[in-house]
Amino acid sequence: MLQDIYPARYSLVYQEETISDDDLVIIGNLNKHLVLFDGHLPTYKQVKDLLPEDYRYLFSIDDVHYFMNYHDLPDHEHTQIRTVIRILQGPEAFGAMTGHHLLSWYLTNRYCSCCGHPLKHSEKERALVCPSCGQVIYPRISPAIIVAITDGDRLLVSKYARGAYRNYALIAGFCEIGETPEETCKREVMEEVGIRIKDIRYYACQPWGVDGGLLLGYFAHLDGDDTLKVDHNELSEAEWITKDEIAADENPITLTSTLMQEFRKGNYD
Ligand SMILES: [Zn+2]
Repeated sequence: MLQDIYPARYSLVYQEETISDDDLVIIGNLNKHLVLFDGHLPTYKQVKDLLPEDYRYLFSIDDVHYFMNYHDLPDHEHTQIRTVIRILQGPEAFGAMTGHHLLSWYLTNRYCSCCGHPLKHSEKERALVCPSCGQVIYPRISPAIIVAITDGDRLLVSKYARGAYRNYALIAGFCEIGETPEETCKREVMEEVGIRIKDIRYYACQPWGVDGGLLLGYFAHLDGDDTLKVDHNELSEAEWITKDEIAADENPITLTSTLMQEFRKGNYD
């Protein structure tokens, strides 16, 4: 998956770093777009004459340092983050997605939500602090579930009604406050396709900076009636498919694809 960058190593130790020419810069906007130069994240050397000196250190992958800039480059071509992670390879793709998550958080947290005072950066950890009322704001990560529902040799797949993602998907949704992820699985499945599930088994997770999420992946069995009642506000369609209808993908980058490949190979039923 995208986060599996071994032997490269992701280090998010919070520290002040001085930017230098070869460091990579995350530039984008709140419409989930990033700026690429020649199909890669730009270096500081490429953008330093184009942007104000308003950089923030994010993290490192091996000896490559990632920074963000608070300003966009509106005259440059922008690429949707979902596309960015398919254009870039390996650690750079993971760096772009994680950088996008942090960029979104920084861009939406400039003022204190309690008193309206401009926020300052904490000097000891990745947090924003209100110098007026003392509120501390930490990076936001939203847990969400993806569930692969099987019924014998069939897998339930869906397609989203909205958004650019038109391939097969699995039932997914954000956890609500007070809910366990397993309860989220049951609720989302009932809401979106009107069926019950049982034997909910955790499989793996994926940090998903596209939506600021942390995806928790599950397998589950159909429980009872298999009649689908599709919520067309959320999904354009849903159907049961067999292993033969899933194209082989030996190196899936998403948790959705990974779950589907496991089913295709017969590792989970
Ligand atoms: Zn405040």
